[in-house]
Amino acid sequence: MQAPLSLVPETSSSLLSGLLQGRFAAGLGLAFGSLPASVQITFAIVFGLVIGSFLNVVVHRLPIMLERAWRAEISDAINEPPQNDGLPARYNLWVPRSACPHCGHVLSAWENLPVLSYLLLRGRCSACNAHVSLRYPLLEIASAAFAAGALALFGPTLTALAAFGLCAALLAMSAIDIDTHLLPDSMTLPLLWAGIIVNFNGMFASLHDAVLGAIFGYLVLWVLYWLFRLVRGVEGMGYGDFKLLAALGAWLGWAALPQIVLIAAVTGAVVGLAATWRGRMRFEEPLPFGPFLAAGGALTLFLGTPLYRALGG
Ligand SMILES: [Zn+2]
Repeated sequence: MQAPLSLVPETSSSLLSGLLQGRFAAGLGLAFGSLPASVQITFAIVFGLVIGSFLNVVVHRLPIMLERAWRAEISDAINEPPQNDGLPARYNLWVPRSACPHCGHVLSAWENLPVLSYLLLRGRCSACNAHVSLRYPLLEIASAAFAAGALALFGPTLTALAAFGLCAALLAMSAIDIDTHLLPDSMTLPLLWAGIIVNFNGMFASLHDAVLGAIFGYLVLWVLYWLFRLVRGVEGMGYGDFKLLAALGAWLGWAALPQIVLIAAVTGAVVGLAATWRGRMRFEEPLPFGPFLAAGGALTLFLGTPLYRALGG
């Protein structure tokens, strides 16, 4: 007679392998897939809006949380109490509740609805009348568009959910890069791991291509960075850009990298020249490169690599 204890690891490992093979998720997908298409797309849009609303919180709070952690480390190292930054001691993505950055008015539930609240309040705080940035609803709409797009392209599958996860992360990182010229390790590195994991059974690329993608994604920009530094003495990119391209390589495979870099370089150059021409920026000023890499990644996710076919004839 077998010892009952041996059942435990066996069950959990078969559950794990079942999860990895997507049986459970496939079941959920099947249930969702049996709903009418209009219900599915409505659900995707609402889900995208809600996630977009959360992304706004991430974009606003994550840089503050990181800066706080750095300050705490420094004051710890030099043995001085940290400066009071006027924020509550417990400050993370979940607490405190969202408030107007101008007057501190805590948002009620109906003031916190994605897009709708912005429209109802006409883009102003209900307490102090301060302008609410248009970026909040725009990010929510972009998130909803990605959710609907992923469902339309990949159907009611785990692949669609993963694709939307990638897009949501790219949206948040782009906004953070624009705001702070930083691509936090706490986002780029988990995204890289997530890319390896989703491709464990070849969701977007074979595991082999994903690993090579992560390696070459990092190396390509690292080499360019050092060439630029040695030849021209300028730093065009940061290490966060290398990690982001490594993550995109892990998600989409190494073959996607040339197209992603080309899209990023061309769109980056166009936007950079336009900004310089309009006098918004000096030529030497570094442009955050993350949003352009993200755009290259998202376009490649949805369109594949038509550029290669066009170039290959
Ligand atoms: Zn206010």
